[in-house]
Amino acid sequence: MTEPYRRVLLKLSGEAFGGGKLGVDPLIVRSVARQIAHLVAAGTQVAVVVGGGNYFRGVELQRGGMDRDRADYMGMLGTVMNSLALQDFLEKEGVPTRVQSAITMGQVAEPYIPRRAERHMEKGRVVIFSAGSGMPYFSTDTVAAQRALEVKAEILLMGKNGVDAVYDCDPNTHPEANRYDELTYDEFLAKGLKVADATAISLARDNNLDMLFFGLDDESNIGRAVAGERIGTWVHA
Ligand code: UDP
Repeated sequence: MTEPYRRVLLKLSGEAFGGGKLGVDPLIVRSVARQIAHLVAAGTQVAVVVGGGNYFRGVELQRGGMDRDRADYMGMLGTVMNSLALQDFLEKEGVPTRVQSAITMGQVAEPYIPRRAERHMEKGRVVIFSAGSGMPYFSTDTVAAQRALEVKAEILLMGKNGVDAVYDCDPNTHPEANRYDELTYDEFLAKGLKVADATAISLARDNNLDMLFFGLDDESNIGRAVAGERIGTWVHA
């Protein structure tokens, strides 16, 4: 048990938003928004990166015959839709929220300006970073690590759907899967674990950013993670 974190970056997979289906499930997004609202009320500064896997993943569209880069832009646009849904439910909970986008779209989001993002957080606003990095061939996990570093978050919290920690294989299909409570970055990479991409892990390793992988299914988990509880899998130097 450690001290509560003061500033965190929360990565939410797109799949969690869709409840495993295409689009957003309002009940799930409302539940996530309520959990974040509790954190903000307690004084935690929160930035969020939302994935887009509930809409499109570039690599899957590529398998269907599309060019990877164009398909990746579709994936990035999906993250913007998730970000707007989360902003809406956060503001319904009374939490002032700003969406910043790595792709310019002034009608719906501010541009990505890291210093301004920090200022928003200092004022108690949640900042949602959308549109990934704005660049094809990246994942939102990697963007989450980069944004966490740039806005000086103390930890990267990786909220997952349908799984409560890192395992050596999918525990939903392999009941014998081994669960890890703790891993170094090098162990994570050497084992070739698929729960986050290697670019994200190596960026965190090279810059000494701790990560915690945990399940979003239990509604108390985001709060417990921010409180410093080592639920799920702690990945560190
Ligand atoms: N994407 C991208 N560049 C980025 C971030 C995301 O091209 O910087 C695209 C990529 O196609 C990816 C999709 O957006 O598959 C959705 O993001 P991701 O798969 O990371 O979402 P998640 O798995 O977290 O839902």
